[in-house]
This record gives sequence, C-alpha cells and structure tokens, in this order.
Amino acid sequence: MTEKKHRIRIPKENKIRAELQKEIGSNCPFCENSEVGHFEIHHIDENPSNNEIGNLILLCPVCHSKITKGDLNQIDVFIKKIELLNAPIISKPKSEKTINFNSTVGNAVVGDNNKISIKQTKSIKQKYPEGCIGFDTTKANYVGHLIKRYNEYKEYELGKGNVNYAMFNGHLKKQYKIAPTRTIYNLPIEKFEELISYIHKRIDSTKLAKIKGKDHKNYSTFEEYLEEFG
Ligand SMILES: [Zn+2]
Repeated sequence: MTEKKHRIRIPKENKIRAELQKEIGSNCPFCENSEVGHFEIHHIDENPSNNEIGNLILLCPVCHSKITKGDLNQIDVFIKKIELLNAPIISKPKSEKTINFNSTVGNAVVGDNNKISIKQTKSIKQKYPEGCIGFDTTKANYVGHLIKRYNEYKEYELGKGNVNYAMFNGHLKKQYKIAPTRTIYNLPIEKFEELISYIHKRIDSTKLAKIKGKDHKNYSTFEEYLEEFG
C-alpha cells in the first residue's frame, strides 16, 4: 500500500506567497498566463517539508499538473527557478485588460447597452534604480546568463539536483558586499566589467571547464551576447 504524502502547511504562507508572486511578476513562469485565479505553490525537490524559498515556485494549476504528470521535469523547473532568482524584474509591456460589466447608476442607463469598459493596466515596477546593473536590461541579462552557465557547469560536477542554485548568488552578493535585501543587480554599473570577468574566471575554474580544456569556449563574451540578443 502506498502512503499518501503528508502535506505540511508552509509557515508564514501568505508572506511567502507574496514574495513568490513578486518573483514571477504575477505571470505563470511556464505558460506566462496572468489570468490565473489561484497560483499554486510547488516544492521543486518534491519534499513537502522543505519550505526554503529557493525550493518553492509559484505556478498555474495547469502547469503544476504537468509537473505531477511528468510533462515538465524537475530540472526544467530548477532552471526556471534560477532564472527567476537571477533575472531582475524588468518592466514588461503593460498588459491591458478590459472588463465589461452591466451597471445602472440609479435608474440611469450607463453607457451603450449598459456596458462599461474599464481598461485596467497592470503596472510592473522597475525594481532597479538608474546607475545599477539591473537598470540596464541587456547587461543584467548577460550577468544572469553567466550565473546560469556557472550553475550548469557545477551541475555536471555535483550531479543534477545537487546544485544549490541560491548559493552562487549568495556568494556573489557576499563578494560584492551587497545588502541582504538587495541583489547582485544592485551593483553599480561601473562594476559590470569586474563582475563579469569574475564570473568568467569562476566558470573557467570549474571541473567541467577544465575537462573541456583551454580552447573550449565556456560562454559568450558580452559582445557576442549583444550580437545574439541585443
Ligand atoms: Zn502555467
């Protein structure tokens, strides 16, 4: 007989939920659906008692069931989580939603056929002020790209599922003396070159980079990245 997994309630669930919601910018990170009635919390490592924020991701019920069915695998979910951890919240084009409803004001008919259209714009806050790396989308994305590459290389060394994706982030923050409530993207833009050459060195010194050898390209330079995505 199989024992049903016991779901332990997440402590301070509302607070955690709010934080996770901010992280995904209120869109499902997999299907980008924003019209989700209730986002669900998924434990990435499938351990319901591991309520570390790094192990939790908010997503829509449809995508959640894809994970349960195995259509979305754990490593893809992990990678998505690192992307979320690494990606600065860049302002996206405002989504417009029109709500139609029928209403009467007093006895008067409002609008045409009682229909009122309200254009609701959801504003997504720019998280990073001018002068820091996060303000420059391309530079910020390149940093995120490098951090992801580092974690992928570490994954080869430690095995899939054994890489703590928040760790390298934490390390970088410590290295650059970033306050706990801020991220590496709060680093002043002048530090960009220094930061990327530091991450380059860290990637080059991983076991996988050493195995691949000196002539192997482990990452695109910023210039190459610009040509590709800029
Ligand atoms: Zn979804």
